[in-house]
Amino acid sequence: MTPLDLRSFNLFGGLVCTTMGLVLLAVRLHFRSPVQGLGHWGVAPLMAVASALLFGLEGRVPSALVLVGGNGLLLGCNIAMLAGTSRFLHRPWRWWPWLTGTALCLLVLLCFSSVWPDYRVRMMTFASTMAWVCAAHARLLWVHGRGLSARLMGAAMVWQTGVLLVRAVATWWIDRPDTQRFEPVSVIHTVYVGTFGFSVMLLLVGGLLMFSEYLRQRFEHLATHDDLTGVLNRRALATRIDQAHARWQTQRQPYALLLMDVDHFKRINDALGHQAGDRALARVAATLQQGLRASDTLGRYGGEEFMALVTGADAELALSLAEQLCQRLAQQADDDQAPACTVSIGVAVVGAGDPQSDSVLARADAALYQAKAAGRNRVVLA
Ligand code: GH3
Ligand code: MG
Ligand code: MG
Repeated sequence: MTPLDLRSFNLFGGLVCTTMGLVLLAVRLHFRSPVQGLGHWGVAPLMAVASALLFGLEGRVPSALVLVGGNGLLLGCNIAMLAGTSRFLHRPWRWWPWLTGTALCLLVLLCFSSVWPDYRVRMMTFASTMAWVCAAHARLLWVHGRGLSARLMGAAMVWQTGVLLVRAVATWWIDRPDTQRFEPVSVIHTVYVGTFGFSVMLLLVGGLLMFSEYLRQRFEHLATHDDLTGVLNRRALATRIDQAHARWQTQRQPYALLLMDVDHFKRINDALGHQAGDRALARVAATLQQGLRASDTLGRYGGEEFMALVTGADAELALSLAEQLCQRLAQQADDDQAPACTVSIGVAVVGAGDPQSDSVLARADAALYQAKAAGRNRVVLA
């Protein structure tokens, strides 16, 4: 069997990494998104490539430059990937421990290259330092990462750490003090060299997956939530109500709808302007949300109308919840940000005669109309 040519292997890995790094950098420039870490992820593989190029120039440039530059860039690649993941996951990041570790490692490499030349100490030092960075990366992904992509990246880092540790220890058996960098033809060394490019590639694929997952969640949030108040929009609320109605039909689990309309809201707009009106609406939504239980769902039904879906509620519970919401708002005073408002609430509970949620909604609407007619800032049960 022809042994693997490690230089060609490195070159090929380098080509794949360059392409992926450039793709990530292009994504970052194109999206100008608030997503952090893409730049670090993009630069990291380019460092790996620069390192491969330097190793390729061995014999033509000073050996100390190859040693420090090549290994420093490889460590830099790993640290940049870690920094990228850390920023992506919004974790605090400090460069100094990693840069200090890199400087110390390179110092030991230099000493054991020119003062007491010994390949085995160099290999052990470098592989352990890399393992330190990879283990930290694996831990970060395991503790703070979510989803398949983070698991994929985490697995790549665990594998890489294991290979590095095995290589660090095995050097005492398979290498000599004067072994040359690309000379060792052992399975362990081939796996060691091959794993690096492969795990960088897996990290980048994982990074791109994490980024697309982030975009999916962001778009989903935009499609289901109201921009101004942050509560569900009408479409998403309708879906939840339909689900609640289906549960009523199959399991007889009741639900109530609280239709709420801000009182004399037009006056606020007219007196204080639309921006103050917007802030008042956001404040009303926040107050309503605080007054509801975690199992209830609040949505913006229309302009200054909100609706709460209260699951598992009978008329008594729904009524008392609505009264509490009404009082919460009525007790508020104007603040610097937004004027206080009151609401009128129409309450309807699902019953045997409701084939669809529309009829419950129609009753809540009629009850709201009565609450307005009766003087506002009150609750009426249909
Ligand atoms: P009522 O007590 O009868 O409900 O009186 P109202 O003034 O609240 O009702 P009306 O329907 O006459 O006015 C509602 C106003 O809400 C009109 C509209 O300009 C305003 N509005 C709707 N959506 C928004 C919004 O997103 N921001 C702001 N600032 N105003 C809004
Ligand atoms: Mg209205
Ligand atoms: Mg109104």
